[in-house]
Amino acid sequence: MISAEELITLENTHDSGVSIKQPLVLVRGEGARVWDVDGREYIDCMSGHGVANVGHANPAVVQAVTEQVQRLVICPNGFYNDQRARLLAQLTAIAPPGLTRAFLCNSGTEAVEAALKFARLSTGRTKIVAAMRGFHGRTFGALSATWRKEYRQPFEPLVPGFEFVPYNRLERMEQVVDEDTAAVILEVVQGEGGVVPGDGEYLRGVQALCQERGALFIVDEVQTGFGRTGRMFACEYYDLRPDLMCLAKAMAGGLPMGAVLIGSRVGELPKKSHGSTFGGNPLACAAALATIQYIASENLPQRAAELGERFLTHLQAIPSPLIREVRGLGLMVGIELKDKVASYLAALAERGVLALPAGATVMRFLPPLVISAEELDIVVERVAEVLT
Ligand SMILES: *Cc1c(COP(=O)(O)O)cnc(C)c1O
Repeated sequence: MISAEELITLENTHDSGVSIKQPLVLVRGEGARVWDVDGREYIDCMSGHGVANVGHANPAVVQAVTEQVQRLVICPNGFYNDQRARLLAQLTAIAPPGLTRAFLCNSGTEAVEAALKFARLSTGRTKIVAAMRGFHGRTFGALSATWRKEYRQPFEPLVPGFEFVPYNRLERMEQVVDEDTAAVILEVVQGEGGVVPGDGEYLRGVQALCQERGALFIVDEVQTGFGRTGRMFACEYYDLRPDLMCLAKAMAGGLPMGAVLIGSRVGELPKKSHGSTFGGNPLACAAALATIQYIASENLPQRAAELGERFLTHLQAIPSPLIREVRGLGLMVGIELKDKVASYLAALAERGVLALPAGATVMRFLPPLVISAEELDIVVERVAEVLT
């Protein structure tokens, strides 16, 4: 067997090197647990950046993928397919009202690209308004809507026409949305930006402003979707009716997939105006169908709401002078520290708990929604050890 050290050396030698890596080689997962190559077990509060909502190696997803991989993996979008048809129906049925069409793709950034293109196409306008500390992806269009300087600056000039305003400040939004604005794009809870929940009044206000000024309202639910925040979609908390809604991450139980859902204020989209080779492939569609059915039948959104509230309360009770604030929605939780977070995350991993950073000072928890209350209690214990 190849050792952990050898595997790490192989990756370090031949990988592009763009990722900051922890020295852990993960080889297996089940539910909310993952194992490294030496058989050490970890409670996973990363879920691969909020992907494994239904748990690792979810039996329903395993079965759907196994069956579909033997039947048909690819079917061009110029043809119809049974899995794709069923997924489109399912997806639009669970979405906020009015989102009756969808474009299927393979990642979050692709969903955002599609939404931005559709917004320009539909309105004939060019300007896009996004929020400071927002994150929407790494391709040029999505990156142009992403706030962080380290992500943007090396690649400038980016796509022109993007403006940033502070999040949760409606009066600032009122100053920039005008007759040139194609769309406003926002997260319901800012994820990468530090787990910052949006204010309901604000989000509804932005939506009304968009309607009033002829701009489209794009909601990026790539991270918050599919039960993460305690509702199937975080939009439901505030009864939001976005014109375009971006999805990905947890959508297909771990397989790469994204989608942008499309509402009635978006006109008919011209033929050939956008496309994707792998988008809507039958394998990903079968996985997404099984994932959505599992989330709904196991009532994972409610589970995330209940466990998340309990988890949040217990974390807030940790008496640590290092903690500035604990905040979140459902099982999307952040602890803002008064210190840089990297060394604490490493210490947590040594104690068998994997969590993520969100910016430099926030410890982020995105566990599978199938995690047990007991497992979350262990997480709280380990966090308390590391922070006190
Ligand atoms: C992760 C994320 C994206 C980008 O998704 P990728 O699949 O990594 O391209 C976009 N928006 C939000 C809110 C995200 O959390």
